[in-house]
Amino acid sequence: ASLGLEDASLVKPGSLIAGRYACVGGADGSAEETLVVRNPATSAALQTLHSASRRDAVRAIESAHAAFLQWRHSAPSERYDLLQRWAAQIDGHEKDLARLLTLENGKPYAEALGEIRYGNAYVKWFAEEAVRMYGDHTMNTRDSRGLVIRQPVGVAAAITPWNFPCAMVTRKVAPAIAAGCAVVLKPAELTPLTALALAELAKRAGAPDGLFNVLVAASPKAVGEELCTNPLVRKVSFTGSTPVGKQLLSWCSSTVKRTSMELGGLAAFIVMDDACIDTAVAALMQNKFRNAGQTCVCANRIYVQQGVYDEFVHKVAEKVKALVVGDGLVETSSIGPLINAAAVAKANDHVRDAEAKGAKIVARAPFNAPAELASGHFFAPCVLRDATDEMKVSFEETFGPVAPIFAFRTEEEVLARANASPFGLSSYLFTRDIGRITRLSEGLECGIVGVNQGAISDARMPFGGVKESGMGKEGGRYGLEDYTIRKYILIGAL
Ligand code: ADP
Repeated sequence: ASLGLEDASLVKPGSLIAGRYACVGGADGSAEETLVVRNPATSAALQTLHSASRRDAVRAIESAHAAFLQWRHSAPSERYDLLQRWAAQIDGHEKDLARLLTLENGKPYAEALGEIRYGNAYVKWFAEEAVRMYGDHTMNTRDSRGLVIRQPVGVAAAITPWNFPCAMVTRKVAPAIAAGCAVVLKPAELTPLTALALAELAKRAGAPDGLFNVLVAASPKAVGEELCTNPLVRKVSFTGSTPVGKQLLSWCSSTVKRTSMELGGLAAFIVMDDACIDTAVAALMQNKFRNAGQTCVCANRIYVQQGVYDEFVHKVAEKVKALVVGDGLVETSSIGPLINAAAVAKANDHVRDAEAKGAKIVARAPFNAPAELASGHFFAPCVLRDATDEMKVSFEETFGPVAPIFAFRTEEEVLARANASPFGLSSYLFTRDIGRITRLSEGLECGIVGVNQGAISDARMPFGGVKESGMGKEGGRYGLEDYTIRKYILIGAL
């Protein structure tokens, strides 16, 4: 299928292993599994792919290992050049990539194009970091010197989710290549097409065979277990849900692998009574409804101080009524479908649970063309007032466009409620008081705080959580750390 792309050869038939694509019926003729990728806006099949087996995973790991043995000796300038060429390929195909992304993930085309550019910012950033992998040198005694050198950790496995089919891939693969590692990527089975297109573009940019492998698997468990237990893999970087992250961590313990985990969030969005309400409302709209609320940094719990509660609820309600739900390829749609039926069911369950416990729906976004939308996984964004801590929306990640608004009285109270969670990825704070900014941003138990700001992701900055939201940092000058080891060398008898 060309899927309406200018360059139809970006649509691939299956996993990329050692520079070759697997295809349905292509291998040894034995019974093989396939995987159908569907458009969440229409449920139409987009592409049938070959599904990787555990044996394919072993082959991919071995090819990555062979590539690593070469690539670890590459000069920093070679890594820079490869990543810059890859970035140029991504720039040159951004429209096709965005279309593919909307087709398999559902997000509106303009957002998809934004994600391709944001994702490519990581490739460009880590190209620049590849030439800045500094170590240390010390004079230990008169006749001895200490060196601390940085080396690539080895073969890195990356397991990525469906909510950012491009950015979650580049955020792991680019620093791995910059550090001198080779990669085996397992993208989410719901959105493998963007990942395969990105790998194809890396291949065209001159990535050696085996440096960047992609495993597309209908059911992730067997391939995931191989990636987390094979001794040739030295690093696993995962973005996804907390329960799956815990499973991978326990597998990784058998060979003591380095791990980075970007897991669930339950972001608190705090509006104090001295805040600029229009700024807070605009930030909430951007933060809560991006990707139809399916991001790990989306506000889950919106805490608004009593004095400004009614004004804030009213203003958010008006904005939500102005959203338009529809197919992401239709220009007037500002909210696409959710990823699948289970996501719609969860959002509905959270709303019903909240209503049963006393919350009220004060706004609902309209549909673009209700009749045409019957076959997709659509859910109309809504605003709930009078939310309380007994409701699921206060302790479960909704991952959908439901905005529950909770009232609070004091700064101490809201800090305690925000921190009463096993999660700690991002928080948002709206106030113009420097004392409150300092106390709350330092007191919130999380990895990222947006102050008077709802969009925090930036390739130049470290992204990552605390507590059960995970460990490790992606992006910024810290992003390379997760893919390097520091080796201490003592030179004596000088
Ligand atoms: P989400 O809630 O975002 O779908 P998941 O944690 O289920 O998050 O999925 C994120 C990634 O983890 C996907 O690539 C998925 O295929 C993979 N995954 C899910 N379950 C497993 C598993 N048991 N073993 C290995 N990988 C898994």
